[in-house]
Amino acid sequence: MERLSATMDGSLESGSLLRKLYATDASEYQEMPLAVAFPRHEQDVQKLIQLAARHRVGLIPRTAGTSLAGQVVGSGIVVDLGRHMNRITSLDPTLHRVRVQPGVIRNELNRFLQHHGLLFGPETSTANRAMIGGMVGNNSCGSNSIIYGSTREHLISARGFLSDGSEVTFGPLSPAEFASKCAGPDSLETRIYQHCRRLLSPERNRSLIRTHYPKATIPRRNTGYALDMLMDSSALDPASGKPFNFCQLVAGSEGTLFFGVEFELNCCPLPPSESALLCAHFVSVDEALRATQLALPLKPFAVELIDRHILNATKRNLEQSQNRFFIEGDPGAILAIDIRRDREVLVLDALSGLVETLKAAGLGYHFPILTGPDQECVWALRRAGQGLMSNIPGDAKPREVVEDTAVDVRDLPSYIAEFDSIMVEKHKIECVYYAHAGTGELHTRPLFNLKTAAGVKMFRSVAEDIAKLVRKFNGSLSGEHGDGRLRGEFILVGQPSTSFPSRYECMAPISGDGKRISS
Ligand SMILES: Cc1cc2nc3c(=O)[nH]c(=O)nc-3n(C[C@H](O)[C@H](O)[C@H](O)COP(=O)(O)OP(=O)(O)OC[C@H]3O[C@@H](n4cnc5c(N)ncnc54)[C@H](O)[C@@H]3O)c2cc1C
Repeated sequence: MERLSATMDGSLESGSLLRKLYATDASEYQEMPLAVAFPRHEQDVQKLIQLAARHRVGLIPRTAGTSLAGQVVGSGIVVDLGRHMNRITSLDPTLHRVRVQPGVIRNELNRFLQHHGLLFGPETSTANRAMIGGMVGNNSCGSNSIIYGSTREHLISARGFLSDGSEVTFGPLSPAEFASKCAGPDSLETRIYQHCRRLLSPERNRSLIRTHYPKATIPRRNTGYALDMLMDSSALDPASGKPFNFCQLVAGSEGTLFFGVEFELNCCPLPPSESALLCAHFVSVDEALRATQLALPLKPFAVELIDRHILNATKRNLEQSQNRFFIEGDPGAILAIDIRRDREVLVLDALSGLVETLKAAGLGYHFPILTGPDQECVWALRRAGQGLMSNIPGDAKPREVVEDTAVDVRDLPSYIAEFDSIMVEKHKIECVYYAHAGTGELHTRPLFNLKTAAGVKMFRSVAEDIAKLVRKFNGSLSGEHGDGRLRGEFILVGQPSTSFPSRYECMAPISGDGKRISS
């Protein structure tokens, strides 16, 4: 390692304090890495990959390290791209395309794009620190995903390295270009295209994928490799109008297939200038979820559910208690419905129409409409509530274990009812609910006391039970946070043994020797 470090312009460090700092992300996991690298440029990255391949050591690409499922925790070398590889390399304002290095922070990218009337749509609650490399790795998205989708939909091309250190660029390919890639000289890149063709052309495999992947109506689907997205291309199916693009798979592959050094992203025009927020109050989570379906035809930018636990957590906080001015009584849940249009009158028309619809359906009891800076108070309250929940007194704390499941939005009420009965009746634990309700995504954090053996046992048992429940609804174990170490083992739960090989196994040849880049 010392010899390699001397040849790098960046650094490779193995001091125990630094390794300890990089032994965690935002998940429950902790593991000491062998070393931490800070590459200064892509040649440094290539050298690291060659070293890792020679010594069969895992490399863990890392940007801000805010992953919630242990994606950047491991025993290999953590490669921090945020320190030096953080430049916006070019912008094509006509084509609405921007190229960035992995360490560019999402909100900083948008501050730059704003001057050109553009926006990188996908967001996360961590957008003030999450970086594009990590957003691609996890296929991130946030409350505005009803409009902008996830990072995958905006990734045009990606340049980087495969596990043997060879440089590749993945981007859109016509059927003829795909055929020519498959006929290329013998290399890992060529084998990738050949493997995709072999795997995704036979109708039997395509049909198994369609059957066993989450329902096509679930937009948030971050479980396993996105073979279902990859196979939807004219190179493999003449009926598809889409080009073949391996980026479909790179997004959400959590650093296991490819080490990106530059990403080309699609940008969107800035959103309509006028907005308002309806904060409809409901007596229960179930009632709020039924109301969600009535809001969706208005094409809201966000439909976010905040439950009583989160609202209560903000009561004793000095700053957040001032943001509670719009809350009436003790709602079981509030739906924040964000509507944007070009003119204020259109926003208010849409929202008052929705209020009438909700009242006619007997859903909700209070319907404040917030405009101007008041809207930000609601989002601040929601963001803070999640954090404040962790400060509740006692050893039982809300834990990330089944915090990111997604089902068809129409299944959400019955899914939550069954979810609740598993938690309350079987495990006798309380749950905190907050949801990107408009997209069928539920963030639930059951309260566990992980200081006791019984609490740890229950943690695992809950993970298993919910994996089975998600399977029953043909949902996705992860809607946005990714599988990581937390969910990887549950991807196949409930799949018939005759079905497709594991979504990880079937991609093994791509990452060389069946070994992933990431450890
Ligand atoms: C409080 C909180 C709220 C959150 N809210 C959201 C949310 O609303 N929506 C959401 O989607 N997520 C959310 N997350 C999860 C996380 O913030 C996002 O997934 C985020 O986009 C990760 O970015 P990062 O820079 O921290 O990536 P990291 O955690 O550093 O990495 C993420 C993955 O990308 C891989 N990776 C990084 N760089 C590269 C590269 N160059 N090449 C290949 N792979 C690479 C890593 O190996 C890893 O697998 C939340 C997390 C927290 C703690």
